[in-house]
Amino acid sequence: MTVPCFLILGAGHAGTAAASAMRAAGFAGRIVMVGDDPHLPYERPPLSKEALRGADGAAPPIYPANFYADRAIELKLGQAATAIDPGAQVVTLASGESIGFDKLLIATGARARRYPLLDGLGDAAHVLRSADDARRLRAELVPGRRLLVVGGGVIGLEVAATACALGLSVEVIERAPRLLARGAPGPLADLLALAHRDHGVALHCGVELANAARDGGNVRLTCAQGRDFTGDLVVYGIGVTLNDELAAAAGLAMEDGILVDAQGRTSHPAIYAAGDIARQDHAFIGGAVRQETWANALHQGAAAARAMVTGEAAAHEVPWYWTDQFGVNYQVAGRTTAQRWIARSGPDGRPRMIFGWSEGVLTGAVGVDAGADMRIARKLIGQGARVDPAVLADPGVALRKVGSHIQS
Ligand code: FAD
Ligand code: NDP
Repeated sequence: MTVPCFLILGAGHAGTAAASAMRAAGFAGRIVMVGDDPHLPYERPPLSKEALRGADGAAPPIYPANFYADRAIELKLGQAATAIDPGAQVVTLASGESIGFDKLLIATGARARRYPLLDGLGDAAHVLRSADDARRLRAELVPGRRLLVVGGGVIGLEVAATACALGLSVEVIERAPRLLARGAPGPLADLLALAHRDHGVALHCGVELANAARDGGNVRLTCAQGRDFTGDLVVYGIGVTLNDELAAAAGLAMEDGILVDAQGRTSHPAIYAAGDIARQDHAFIGGAVRQETWANALHQGAAAARAMVTGEAAAHEVPWYWTDQFGVNYQVAGRTTAQRWIARSGPDGRPRMIFGWSEGVLTGAVGVDAGADMRIARKLIGQGARVDPAVLADPGVALRKVGSHIQS
């Protein structure tokens, strides 16, 4: 009797969550996980935070090596898959090895979107996606140096905050009129702009680059508006390019990501997808979405794995993510736009929670060092709680009691 094989492409957050969940759901066949990154699967969020502050830029592994061995999960690391044959149900690796699968999970995530203008600067320009990127960048973050950050998204701002704390002088150049223009609530962008300016980071929004040159030890960026920025090195974070080429070549249905159903299944019945690469109908959002967050990769990877084993679809979670900057934890949950944003102050008089409220319903929240309240907020958002704005704004009403103020 042949042993069934579940193959996972991509050894990131979604892939490892899936491998673990397959075993937990009782799958007793072969589990093979293929990843082109040579390192034991590692946590990606620390790469722009703790890892850049550490001595060597290293991020912790997701699981220790024995985790995989104990569960008979076969790891093929440092090996890229080069083709998926959906008819024969075979994946080919760069080494020439072929692996047949009964079911396949594609969790190949994304890579940093490249900016050829800045890549022309050679080793003075950095992107940040992998552990090797973080190690290279860590070595360059020397106190007193001048860092130019291009892109005022999450990568750009986290690197700017970390580098500033390490003693570099930092300027952020963002093309859009505000920071975090892509899919983050306006109040979060405002809070972070304030924090960066308070710490001495220079923020330049609405600036489009026109030229980049190296001039001796200096890097000079010229913007379309004619202004020059001079530094020692550049880090850019201008979004991602999906690692979707194999899925596209295999003929899977795609639309800015691999389209998957409620079970995480693609247009091929034996092929599933999860994580940054997957686009799925989301009950809370009310349409098909692709999420680029750690929480989604874990949830969707595990959910797809359980569906591969049991056929059952999982309930959706309210979307959420966090960012850590200048020692402060900011969390975002739910919808990123709202009819009104309602602030609730903390003991220091500053906003601790900012609630998104639309047509009487709590639809989103931003929390500042407010992890416990954000868990309650996520629950209320998921319930579609109808809440009085005055109650939301009142720090005297504990958030766990807001449920008793829900309006019918
Ligand atoms: P990935 O983590 O990208 O993993 C996919 C893996 O597949 C990669 O290792 C890739 O190399 C591999 N692969 C691709 N193609 C192939 C192939 N052909 N063959 C074999 N392997 C292949 N999210 C948050 O919510 N909060 C944070 O604070 C946060 N911080 C972040 C900081 C950084 C620096 C980065 C880069 C991301 C951060 N994120 C954060 C986002 C989060 O890490 C991602 O959403 C998550 O990693 C997505 O997981 P994934 O498994 O879908 O993809
Ligand atoms: P984002 O999409 O968050 O932000 C990129 C920003 O760069 C956008 O505001 C974009 O503006 C801007 N930009 C694009 N082109 C230019 C340009 N030519 N000049 C100046 N600005 C430009 O991507 P990131 O690179 O910040 O993040 C990459 C990935 O990492 C994402 O998947 C993200 O989710 C993940 N990540 C998540 C973190 C978290 O959740 N805490 C932390 C770090 C990374 P425009 O919209 O106008 O193109």
